[in-house]
Amino acid sequence: MNVKSNIYPTKALQEADAAHHLHPFTEHRTLNAEGSRIITHAEGVWLTDSEGKRILDGMAGLWCTQIGHGRHEVAEAVYKQMQELEYYNLFFKTSHPPAVALAEKLAELTPPQFNHVFFAGSGSEANDTVFRMVRYYWDLMGRPEKKTIIGRWNGYHGSTLAGTSLGGMKGMHGQGDLPVPGVHHIAQPYWFGEGGDMDEDAFGLWAANELARAIDELGEDKVAAFIAEPIQGAGGVIIPPDTYWPAVKKILDERDILFVADEVITGFGRTGEWFGSTYYGIEPDLMPIAKGLSSGYLPIGGVMVADKVADVVINKGGEFYHGYTYSGHPACCAAALANLAILEEEKIVERVKNDIGPYLQKRWKALGEHPLVGDARMVGMMGALELVPVKGDRTKTFANEGSVGTMARDYSFENGLVMRAVRDSLILSPPLVLSHEEADELARIAEKTLDDTY
Ligand code: PLP
Repeated sequence: MNVKSNIYPTKALQEADAAHHLHPFTEHRTLNAEGSRIITHAEGVWLTDSEGKRILDGMAGLWCTQIGHGRHEVAEAVYKQMQELEYYNLFFKTSHPPAVALAEKLAELTPPQFNHVFFAGSGSEANDTVFRMVRYYWDLMGRPEKKTIIGRWNGYHGSTLAGTSLGGMKGMHGQGDLPVPGVHHIAQPYWFGEGGDMDEDAFGLWAANELARAIDELGEDKVAAFIAEPIQGAGGVIIPPDTYWPAVKKILDERDILFVADEVITGFGRTGEWFGSTYYGIEPDLMPIAKGLSSGYLPIGGVMVADKVADVVINKGGEFYHGYTYSGHPACCAAALANLAILEEEKIVERVKNDIGPYLQKRWKALGEHPLVGDARMVGMMGALELVPVKGDRTKTFANEGSVGTMARDYSFENGLVMRAVRDSLILSPPLVLSHEEADELARIAEKTLDDTY
């Protein structure tokens, strides 16, 4: 198959793809009949497919492409690094300049308790590191019985054994007899779907208190950590009620367990702050990062480690038998540094907070007037539209859960906008460089999509 020319034989590509390629999170049978969508180019917020159709990338790839597609500065930084040192590892007391520079930059950009990073290749790997590091920490503290990690139902922390186990996706658990032992899940703060007859604030307090109840039930002396995304992304952009994080923070302050804020989606400006933890005023001990760290230009992740944990790992521990061949890969570090430079120089995070964020939120919330929409929510530039059969009644759901959401997602793509379906909601997380005109276009296509689905 020659894919070098600019003429893409869509059908032949689709057939070869279906014949030889097992995709992540895909029902393969459908590929034979429908074929995959082949994306060939991208620039700014726009994707182009193999038939020349332009589509607005309302998911920033997979929540990654903060700076938009096609920035030559990143490609050039990677090219330069590849010519100097294409690869070397960081094991056994070695380092290289891009890893050092990125570690230093991350210490500067992240909240003050963080001065160390452990590099990984992805968000999933970062959460494998979390899983091992929290247990290692408690072992070093002389508390080896503190092993259980508490996660939340419908949370997403990746697709490896640790990531799947810490996450609370029941469908994923069902495939492969997961979670692994030592993980406990509690309720998510999803008021729209699970709030029953409670008002939002009361539900937020109830959901927070589930953490206290779980710790008390399991025994504080057995619990190592609580892991949560500041805003659940893949679970459907679940923005917690205002009461939730202050109450969780109080519970954590009163108990001796580690707090892990998974910022793989909420990091690097998505909420209008550099990190979701800052947005909510929460203070994690460990903070997995990935995606927006390099805007997805090359794969890189890591775990920010607060001084409280790093001091123990460094000063009490010996060698931590953990690491990845591609931890802090030089080319990936160069891509991340170039991406962070663009975020800073172009004041993209500030722009999300003060300009394009509020602008998009206004357009998005206006979609809440549509008869099909029960809730239109957005923080920074991540949002969801809950589709409902009966306007004003959030207890009624469509008969075949997911089918209306999937239909709407497919209409959206046909109309020229990528949105993702989670149950019967549509979710959005566009590149942070979206212009006002593009936000108008996005809202226009989303509205047409709702009309088509209705
Ligand atoms: N954590 C969160 C919050 C995520 O949303 C994701 C991916 O969507 C991951 C971890 C896993 O990251 P990766 O797909 O890079 O392994």
